[in-house]
Amino acid sequence: MLRLYTHAACLQHDPGPGHPESPARLRAVLAALDRDRFAMLDRVEAPRANRSALERVHDPAYVARILASAPPEGTSRLDEDTLMSPGSAEAALRAAGAVVAAVDAAVAQGARAFCAVRPPGHHATASQAMGFCLFNNVAVGAAHALAVHGLERVAIADFDVHHGNGTQDIFAAEPRVLFASSHQSPLYPGTGHTDETGAGNLVNAPLPPGTGSQAFRRRWEQELLPRIAAFGPQLLLVSAGFDAHRADPLAQLELAADDYAWLTTRLLDVARDHAGGRMVSTLEGGYDLDALAASAAAHVAALFG
Ligand SMILES: [Zn+2]
Repeated sequence: MLRLYTHAACLQHDPGPGHPESPARLRAVLAALDRDRFAMLDRVEAPRANRSALERVHDPAYVARILASAPPEGTSRLDEDTLMSPGSAEAALRAAGAVVAAVDAAVAQGARAFCAVRPPGHHATASQAMGFCLFNNVAVGAAHALAVHGLERVAIADFDVHHGNGTQDIFAAEPRVLFASSHQSPLYPGTGHTDETGAGNLVNAPLPPGTGSQAFRRRWEQELLPRIAAFGPQLLLVSAGFDAHRADPLAQLELAADDYAWLTTRLLDVARDHAGGRMVSTLEGGYDLDALAASAAAHVAALFG
């Protein structure tokens, strides 16, 4: 079973004209996952994350600030490139809630899921919004799996072109979570070097600008996938950003949609071998609308298996 979690509220977060993290991104993804070509998807409306789920990874004061700082109109700025609009708090609650609900379904029924949500999450730290991210959706899902379902090993694979500094930061001292990331370096946010290993639970594979399919696949095949497999995850979460595509305007990697199908299939193999097929993916970046749509469709088709 493959579930698609999304919510109309995720279209109501609008950082303003010209901002790359636009509602059009999610519309493009949902159009690519249309009911004709993806009839097999079980479509589920994302619930809101509750306060306690958010506070497992975020400071209570930070959660309160995000929920209170959406402006009545226009936008308000949290950092250089992270803004809120009137619909942002509700969107952020649904985005994190999607991953929590998908984790529940994965643990209870072995369901796999893709969460087509925004704002993205992997740059948000325990107490700081950054890089277009408000709540760290994948981290909220991982912490929920540990606390509520009692899992002891949760792996997070992050193939967004930017390093998931927030996720790394949140779990750097948590050996029950393995964080494995490929990302362009140098690039925003500047973290993700190979010597950032946390409690032995962080695996970073920085890739130089210009890296293409072959080197990308080799890095996953030789370094990241073996580490995830050796960890023996009971649940595999994915920070699925599609901005390493060659058409993406925010980075300089040279991937194609097919590379996302390839990696997703490899990750699904690991999830089947170790986690009873329990795999939950959530949308992070991807800023060329056509490339994003094609890549997300390739990813979801491969996730179906
Ligand atoms: Zn990104």
